[in-house]
Amino acid sequence: MTRHEYTANFHQHTVYSDGAGTHSELIRAGQAAGLDVMVFTDHNIYVPDKEGWYDGLLALMGIEVNDITQSPEHSHFLALGVDRDLGKYAATPQALIDKVNDIGGVGFIAHPFERAAPLFGEGKIPWKHWDVQGYTGLELWNYMSEFKSFLTSKPRAIHAAFSPDRFITAPFPETLAHWDNLTRSGQKVVAIGSSDAHGQAYSMGPITRTVFPYKNLFAAVRTHLLMPERLSKDVATAKQQVLDTLRAGHCFVAYDHIGDTTGFSFTAQNADDQMIFSDAATNIAMQGDDIALGNLNMLAFNISVPRRAEIRLIKDGIVVATERGESMQYMASEPGVYRVECYKVWKTKWRGWIFSNPIYVRAA
Ligand SMILES: [Zn+2]
Ligand SMILES: [Zn+2]
Repeated sequence: MTRHEYTANFHQHTVYSDGAGTHSELIRAGQAAGLDVMVFTDHNIYVPDKEGWYDGLLALMGIEVNDITQSPEHSHFLALGVDRDLGKYAATPQALIDKVNDIGGVGFIAHPFERAAPLFGEGKIPWKHWDVQGYTGLELWNYMSEFKSFLTSKPRAIHAAFSPDRFITAPFPETLAHWDNLTRSGQKVVAIGSSDAHGQAYSMGPITRTVFPYKNLFAAVRTHLLMPERLSKDVATAKQQVLDTLRAGHCFVAYDHIGDTTGFSFTAQNADDQMIFSDAATNIAMQGDDIALGNLNMLAFNISVPRRAEIRLIKDGIVVATERGESMQYMASEPGVYRVECYKVWKTKWRGWIFSNPIYVRAA
């Protein structure tokens, strides 16, 4: 199975909303951080004529839509690959989701669970409309949202501002649990991870610090896309490839700051039509795919990571196997929603490293 892997960031802000950098500055930071794909997502504004290839980096346009009449302004939605303003749909999430789909975009619920940082005047801005349908997925891990959750006291905030990566550990457990609930009930929900970079400075008394230069954030939590073919040099075609990959869930969430995750693989194959499991088999499912248990009611999962980690295989929200090493094989005989989490020790703490998208195993 040929595959081409691309690192992407689908959530960041420029001076067109509350970010500190221009589009060109973000593009340069993305190139320096080794990003292949970035989507600009300024709040409630569509900025034309920015899409293109910039020396190996594909920049696309999106919008982070939120209802500015709310206080705090909760329920943010990332509309990616859209071609127009969507402000008039901000107050009606289902209409927004339907419109994004109609015009060929993909949509993700941004930072679905959130914690407030009252010291900095930042309220809690989670998603509050779980009755909606038809969205592509959710933002499983939002770096800035996690960082905000550490700003609980002044000493802690100062410590966090000077070494944020000591604090960042994993997606919120409530986000993981909610995602598992959604997929367990039969819905396909694609997970992405992003920086939500603003390049902003935090100040406290005499201390003002640009805590998060774009470049650092672009090398932290991101999404790796897995594609059957190389990204086209034609921008319109490449954009479709990215959107198709997201819709299919052929991607995983990576915290590359603690170790490059490139090469991570999670696949499943059933035993139909073959004597032994072999790499040449064509009935291999990857992240985001469905696969049936097959006639023999048996399925092999293959997981491999580019370097040693604790690998956990999770079925319907429950860990069913754990192994420390560079690979894991697991035979399954039950339908369910299977996904992988990998953890690594970095700066004395276990931290989330890789969060795969699920493979949906159906009964025979
Ligand atoms: Zn937001
Ligand atoms: Zn944002």
